[in-house]
Amino acid sequence: MMLENKKALITGAYRGIGKTIADLFIAQGAEVWGLDYKTPEDLSARVEAAKGKLHWITLDLSKTNEIEAVIESSLKESGGFDILVNNAGITKDNLSFRMSIEDWQKVLDINLTAAFLISRLVGRDMTRKRTGSIINMASVVGIHGNGGQANYAASKAGLIGVTKSLASEYASRSVRVNAIAPGYIETDMTAAVPEEVQKKMIDVIPMKRTGKQEDVAGVALFFASDLSSYITGQVLPVDGGMYF
Ligand code: NAD
Repeated sequence: MMLENKKALITGAYRGIGKTIADLFIAQGAEVWGLDYKTPEDLSARVEAAKGKLHWITLDLSKTNEIEAVIESSLKESGGFDILVNNAGITKDNLSFRMSIEDWQKVLDINLTAAFLISRLVGRDMTRKRTGSIINMASVVGIHGNGGQANYAASKAGLIGVTKSLASEYASRSVRVNAIAPGYIETDMTAAVPEEVQKKMIDVIPMKRTGKQEDVAGVALFFASDLSSYITGQVLPVDGGMYF
């Protein structure tokens, strides 16, 4: 049990990588507050399976003006978090010439602004207590860019900037801030990619396979736990060797 007596807030926990991280953290002894704009249809079954160690916050992170009140009340209810995983994210891909300003803004709001706002609210409490780990779900695209994803790449590059800046601000209070940069991970988000394109992508991955959600969740566990107690401000690619 690597997260015994720890409380974690995980955004985008309804499905995909966020759900897998929530399940792993609970299995490792943590009490988890899942946050998503969707409420699981099987929430009571999930709570029961977690032996009551799962709580749910329904919030649409694109409504950035609603974030402060909800996070403040969750901080009160929980007594504060030891771990924050800013995982919620969306794509709205298009070539730059065709990208609407609405699609640019929505991706920036959810992937970057929401993560910043939650981090500083939770981070303020963590720095007071002089302990905590914040994990931001970036992407290899935030490091290398990608045609058709200017909005998404900008949001993830921005998140890396926030990670390093907050790491610098919080380090003296023993609060660590790190980012994970997944490559091509099998989730509902990537299921929409045409099979032809998927094959081409696997061709350029040295490990010749897509990543599993568990590959990312394991790294989140590493950053959340004391195994990484002297690591802050880092971005760890989880990409099967795509960019070494
Ligand atoms: P996903 O679409 O399966 O899950 C995203 C989660 O975020 C969902 O639970 C969704 O409901 C939630 N969400 C979306 N909009 C929201 C909003 N407005 N408010 C609150 N919650 C919202 O995607 P995933 O593949 O599991 O991705 C998780 C994270 O990992 C994202 O930040 C994504 O950018 C990042 N990532 C994924 C990959 C990949 O290959 N799958 C690669 C790099 C980075």
